[in-house]
Amino acid sequence: MFDVVVVGGGIAGMQAAVHAHSKGASVALITRTNPTSSYSITIQDGLNAALGPGDSPEAHAKETIHAGGFLADQAVVDSVCKDASWVVEELDRWGVPFNRDGAAYDLTRLPGSATARGLIADDMTGHVLTQVLYEQVLKSGIKLYEEFVVEEATTEGSAVSGVVVLDLATGRFEFIGAKAVILATGGPRRLYEPSTASLHCSGDGIAFAYRLGAPLVDMEFVQYHPFVLKNSRLAVSEVLTATAERVTASGEPITEAEAALPRAIAAAIAGGRGEDGCVALEYTFDKGLTNRFFNTNQRVSGLAGLKLADGKLPVRPAMHRLLGGVAVNHEGATSIGGLFAVGECAGATVHGAYGLPGNFLLASLTTARRTGRAAADYTGGRPYMPETDRMADHAENRRLNIFRREGGPNVAALRKELAAAMHQHAGLVRDATGLSQASQTIERVADAYKTAGVTSRNQDYNFGYLHYLELGNLLDAAQAIVASAAARQESRGVHYRTDFPTADPNQGAQHHLVTLTSGSPAVTQRPVEMSRWQPSTN
Ligand SMILES: Cc1cc2nc3c(=O)[nH]c(=O)nc-3n(C[C@H](O)[C@H](O)[C@H](O)COP(=O)(O)OP(=O)(O)OC[C@H]3O[C@@H](n4cnc5c(N)ncnc54)[C@H](O)[C@@H]3O)c2cc1C
Repeated sequence: MFDVVVVGGGIAGMQAAVHAHSKGASVALITRTNPTSSYSITIQDGLNAALGPGDSPEAHAKETIHAGGFLADQAVVDSVCKDASWVVEELDRWGVPFNRDGAAYDLTRLPGSATARGLIADDMTGHVLTQVLYEQVLKSGIKLYEEFVVEEATTEGSAVSGVVVLDLATGRFEFIGAKAVILATGGPRRLYEPSTASLHCSGDGIAFAYRLGAPLVDMEFVQYHPFVLKNSRLAVSEVLTATAERVTASGEPITEAEAALPRAIAAAIAGGRGEDGCVALEYTFDKGLTNRFFNTNQRVSGLAGLKLADGKLPVRPAMHRLLGGVAVNHEGATSIGGLFAVGECAGATVHGAYGLPGNFLLASLTTARRTGRAAADYTGGRPYMPETDRMADHAENRRLNIFRREGGPNVAALRKELAAAMHQHAGLVRDATGLSQASQTIERVADAYKTAGVTSRNQDYNFGYLHYLELGNLLDAAQAIVASAAARQESRGVHYRTDFPTADPNQGAQHHLVTLTSGSPAVTQRPVEMSRWQPSTN
């Protein structure tokens, strides 16, 4: 039994765990990989913070709200931008070696920002942040469950009671009771092909909360990275591509109209004129950047046999991030007592309809700090739920049933079918016909999933069984994304509908919430909080 259980050992989960512990809570951190192999490690660029001369949290907030098509909740954005300075101060104190110019931070201007406010550690920002946070977790004595997969969050009455975990090494199920559970499982990148996903990105936390009846928010906003190296998942750094001079497809420059679209959509349209969906990205590579991009250079060379200094890379857009997630309040609390969410699986409404590079990390770190502390406060004076093996037994029986299935559909093939349909119909460019086709594919895959089995009956490290679980979680997220995208009949930020190509101010004033109701997604609306700036004002 713990006061707080955190599910996920990425940047958001570790930050939440450290801060819940700092408030005196007993904390367990459960993660299916070692935290230093979490997806957060891939972050190459930086963390936005308004620390430069002449910059201010207010200017940062205003740019964030404009970029997000006025769909971000403004008080939340305000607090994230204000909290940036102490997050940086804390990380600095813990030992993150942000690049400096003498005593001052060497700030980088990331695409979409008018001001240099990106703190970076060469092209290894994610790597160093992950290591430093992991050190804090180890130092604090937080109980670590590494290589444990959470299969479900559980409730008693209207409050959370804990999680059911699968110990990968032994194949045993266990119930871990908690007064509060913080979901920090990352986003569902594996729902799309192509994407920048690693094996661990199935957005499990979104599905756990959705199945418990918690609403999801802003699920229609799926952001693609414009420049992902051909035949790979390597997103070419936003810092590097900020200097991109032009994008061409088969030598053709993009048109002016295309250039006005978000960069990923322009790249996709231009790529459609090429043979393999790729465009050539031409940029000026300043020799001074060689050391700064040492890692990226090595990876580009290993993956494509090219060098950054060549100044030209074959790239294509790939799904990079879901901007929505489990609907949470200012302190990360969901609609279910004691259930919280942070990082990429949370719909914190910071980004609105488009996320600025550098704001993802900032949002994860600031909201996770606040949430960790709020979860610890929530547990004060509450009793522990009674110990029970009931949920672990239930999971064991479910797995046995799946193991007994013979010759059902292949889970990997089903996921691929789903991911291809999501990219084609619920990706960069959407319309009503395509979204309805996506819905049909989801239904077909969900039906097949009911009879799908796994090829190995091994108890330990049964990855086939993990992929089975993953597909179930991805299907839930897919349902919610498509329902939300179909309901938003306008174009805004990364949600681009060819049948409704312009923004509609009335729809733009509402978030979409998706709740699982009698087995289907039901979409409702909630007004966007616009206390400071209106779309009509500058
Ligand atoms: C290539 C790339 C570059 C990026 N660069 C930047 C950047 O420069 N600036 C920026 O602001 N943002 C950037 N981002 C976004 C940023 O990385 C993410 O927003 C952030 O890392 C999310 O962290 P997280 O902790 O929510 O998720 P993750 O890092 O994905 O962590 C999720 C954790 O949950 C665990 N987990 C998942 N499911 C389960 C389960 N069922 N049971 C137990 N554990 C589970 C995983 O093992 C993992 O430990 C980048 C993203 C990518 C992909």
